[in-house]
Amino acid sequence: MRRRNLLLGAAAASVIPGSALGEVPAAGRTPWDVLIAGSGLAGLCAAATALESGARRVLVLEKGPVIGGHSAYSSGSLAVVIRKPHAGQKFDDSTETLLEDSKRVGGRVNEAIIRKVGDESESAADWLRSIGVPFSPVVFQAAGGIRPRCISTMGAGAGRAYVTAVNRRAKALGMKLRFGCALTGLVRKNGLWIARVNEKGAEREIEARTVVLATGGFTANEAMRSKYDPRLGPGMHTTANPHGLYFDGATGDGIRIGEALGAATAGMGNFQLLAYSGGRVLEYAGAEVYLDMKGHRFVNEAASTGELTAAILALPERSIWVVTDSRSVKGASLGLKLANGYVRKSETVAEMAHGMGLSPSALRKELDDFNAAARSRHDPRFGRTLFLQTVEQPPFYWGRETLNIHCSLGGLVTDTEARVLDRKGEPIEGLFAAGETTGVFGRDRPGGMALALCLVMGREAGRRAAKAAAKRAA
Ligand SMILES: Cc1cc2nc3c(=O)[nH]c(=O)nc-3n(C[C@H](O)[C@H](O)[C@H](O)COP(=O)(O)OP(=O)(O)OC[C@H]3O[C@@H](n4cnc5c(N)ncnc54)[C@H](O)[C@@H]3O)c2cc1C
Repeated sequence: MRRRNLLLGAAAASVIPGSALGEVPAAGRTPWDVLIAGSGLAGLCAAATALESGARRVLVLEKGPVIGGHSAYSSGSLAVVIRKPHAGQKFDDSTETLLEDSKRVGGRVNEAIIRKVGDESESAADWLRSIGVPFSPVVFQAAGGIRPRCISTMGAGAGRAYVTAVNRRAKALGMKLRFGCALTGLVRKNGLWIARVNEKGAEREIEARTVVLATGGFTANEAMRSKYDPRLGPGMHTTANPHGLYFDGATGDGIRIGEALGAATAGMGNFQLLAYSGGRVLEYAGAEVYLDMKGHRFVNEAASTGELTAAILALPERSIWVVTDSRSVKGASLGLKLANGYVRKSETVAEMAHGMGLSPSALRKELDDFNAAARSRHDPRFGRTLFLQTVEQPPFYWGRETLNIHCSLGGLVTDTEARVLDRKGEPIEGLFAAGETTGVFGRDRPGGMALALCLVMGREAGRRAAKAAAKRAA
C-alpha cells in the first residue's frame, strides 16, 4: 500500500498540474465506477451504456490524440438481423441463419456471442437511431456479407457518424475522456483495479471498481501479428492507415494486459487482409484483371477474399497490377486516387505497359487471352466464372495494389455478459472486454459483423460493468 501511495504521489506531483487532475481521483479518493480503455465504437458504447445503467463515474482512456480508433475509419456496414419491416421491406432472416453464415465462413466461432449479436442487433441499431444516427432505408450485402443484412448511414464517413453520435451521448451523460493516456497494466488490490497508465509520458495509477478492455485489435503491432502469422511481417499497414501516415492504436494492448492476468485467448492466428488502398477502384467483382509484376494473370480475380489474399501473399513482391477499363462503375475514391497517382488512366495498352515497365506485346497478349475467356465465360487457366465485361475499351484505369491488414479476428475470450474468462473458463472479477479486442469469429466473419459486435457487446460490457460497480460500492 505504501509503495502504491508513493507511486501515486510521485506520478501526480511530477507531471500533471493539480487542476488538470480534477477528473482523476488521486490516492484515497473515490475510485471510478467504470474505467474503459479505448474510445472506438466498443469503448464508447460501453461508456454511454454504463452511464445509462446507473454508473456515475465513467472514465475513458484513449492512447491516441482523437476518438474513434479503426471504428472511425470503417465503412460503416452494420450487420443487423432485421425482424421488423424495414422501410416497408420484410426480410427472412434470423439469429440461427446468422449463426450458420458465421460458422460457414469462420469455422470455430463463439456461438453464444454470435447468437446474442443476432438477438440484439436490431434493438442496438434502434438505440443508435435514437441517439441521432440517420440510417439509410437501404439494406445491402456488404463485401463478404453472404446475404443482404447490412444497414449504414447516409453519405460518406458512416463509421465516424456512429462514433460521433455515441461520444455525444456519453459526454452528455457525464463521461470523462483523457487523450494521450494509455492503459499499460492492471493489478487487483482490495477488490479494486489499480490501472497503470502512461499519460503523455508520465506513469501514474488510477483506481476503478471495474475495467472494460476495448483497445481494438493488433493489426498495427508488427511483432505481435507476425508471431501468429509470419507472413504479416514488416512493411505492411492497416486498411485504417494504409500508407503509414497516421497514428494507429491497434497494437493489441488490451489483449496483452488481459493475458498477463491469466485471460484465455481464441483465434489469434486469424486475420482479414484486403487489397483496396492502391490501384483498385471498383467495389464489386467481375470487371478487373489482376496481373503479377511480370504482367501475368495469377488468380481467379473473383475468388473469395481468403483465396485472393493467399495468392497475393505468395507473390515475391506481394504487389499486383489491377486493370479495368472505361465501362466499369468506379467507386468514390477514383478522383482522389487519380490525383494522388495511385491510379492512372491510359488511352492505349502500349502506354499502360510503358507505365508498368512491361513489354507492350506481352501485355496485349495477356489482355487478349483474358478477354477471350470473358467472352466465352470459360477461363481454362484459373476457372473464373464471374465476368461482367471484357477489359478492352479505352481509357484503361490501372494501378499497383498491395495488401493491407484489415482486422485481427483473435482476442480475449468473453462470455455473453462480456466478462473476460481465464484459462479455466472462469470470469476474472470486474474485468470486461468488447469489440476487436475479443476473439469471436474464427478464421473469417460475415461483412458488417465487426461493428455489430462492438455495438452489442460494447453495450453489454457497459451494462454489466455498471452493475458490478454498484454491487462493489454497496
Ligand atoms: C478501413 C476499415 C473499414 C472497415 N469497415 C467495416 C465495416 O464496414 N463493417 C464492419 O463491421 N467492420 C468494418 N471494419 C472493422 C471494424 O471497423 C473494427 O473491427 C471495429 O471498428 C473495431 O472497433 P473497436 O472499438 O474494437 O476498436 P477501435 O475502433 O480500433 O478502437 C480502439 C481504440 O483503443 C485505443 N487504444 C489502444 N490501446 C490503448 C491503450 N493501451 N489505452 C487506451 N486506449 C488504447 C486505440 O487508439 C483506439 O482508439 C473496418 C475496419 C477498417 C480499418
